Amino acid sequence: MTTSENPFRFFHLHVLRTEQIGPGFVRVTFGGEDLKAFVSDGRDQRLKLFFPQPGQDEPVVPVEAGDDWFAAWMAIDAGERGIMRTYTARDARRDPDELDIDFAMHGDTGPASRWAANAVPGARLVAIGPQRTDNGGADFAPPKDAPWVLVAADETALPAVEGILRWLPGGLPAHVWLSVAHDGDRRELPGRAGTNVRWFVRNGSGDPIPEAIAAADLPEGTPYAWIAGEASMVRAVRRNLVRDRGYDRKSVTFTGYWRRGATDDDLLVESLAGQEPHLPGKDD
Ligand SMILES: Cc1cc2nc3c(=O)[nH]c(=O)nc-3n(C[C@H](O)[C@H](O)[C@H](O)COP(=O)(O)OP(=O)(O)OC[C@H]3O[C@@H](n4cnc5c(N)ncnc54)[C@H](O)[C@@H]3O)c2cc1C
Repeated sequence: MTTSENPFRFFHLHVLRTEQIGPGFVRVTFGGEDLKAFVSDGRDQRLKLFFPQPGQDEPVVPVEAGDDWFAAWMAIDAGERGIMRTYTARDARRDPDELDIDFAMHGDTGPASRWAANAVPGARLVAIGPQRTDNGGADFAPPKDAPWVLVAADETALPAVEGILRWLPGGLPAHVWLSVAHDGDRRELPGRAGTNVRWFVRNGSGDPIPEAIAAADLPEGTPYAWIAGEASMVRAVRRNLVRDRGYDRKSVTFTGYWRRGATDDDLLVESLAGQEPHLPGKDD
């Protein structure tokens, strides 16, 4: 761990390469001098990404990512400032310093998905990311005495699930439910004994995970649960665990990663209108 006071900073990045890793996924690998300062403890490490507005070569962001970065970003004209979205640091490597982000493609409607689909080497982006391991930007935190772990996620949280499975202490059983839009988006997950993974392909219909979990014969004891993906799926699974199964709500970590029919900008406006502090990724 470094001793930097602020856990986050801006990272000015450029695209090194892109790879279509499945029918619905583009992996973008970023480089840049700033990555020397990138420090994370993995898991579901979230980042704020800023995308350029149409006609800009790079996104406009405040000068510094201090405590007031959000107010400073909001003070920039909405048509000028970088378009903000939340993503996961899928992998960060040294020698050379590189950062992978996996973008789930969902057509042409979202600026982030559209940007990734068209990204070419040299394209520039800015991230707010961690420069300390204890940065508060990863939610997955099972208590030491959790008898087992339950993970439910759609493809937007697949990079986070990979990070979680890489990080999980050996010997802690994990039951994982994953849904993807296309069969070819299923992938090999970090292997460890005691992990039981069920894949579902949505084929354009609703998410089958809530029903599958509701019908599942689960192991004894209250698990530590982590749920992320489309907001209605997340809500339904949480309801089953807390209301129907009676698990302590404190043992369930849940985050709406996106909501059908609402852009991330819509969610930000809602959270501001509700007077809730805008925590990165805490949109639900
Ligand atoms: C903590 C956190 C971590 C995340 N990590 C990742 C990640 O690593 N990879 C990743 O791909 N996503 C990730 N997401 C989800 C991502 O931020 C959203 O999908 C985001 O809305 C995409 O922005 P956009 O500009 O493409 O679409 P927006 O402009 O936000 O939305 C445009 C339209 O597309 C719909 N939409 C948004 N996302 C999807 C989707 N995935 N499938 C279908 N329709 C969609 C919206 O409902 C809206 O109607 C994460 C979210 C959070 C909160």
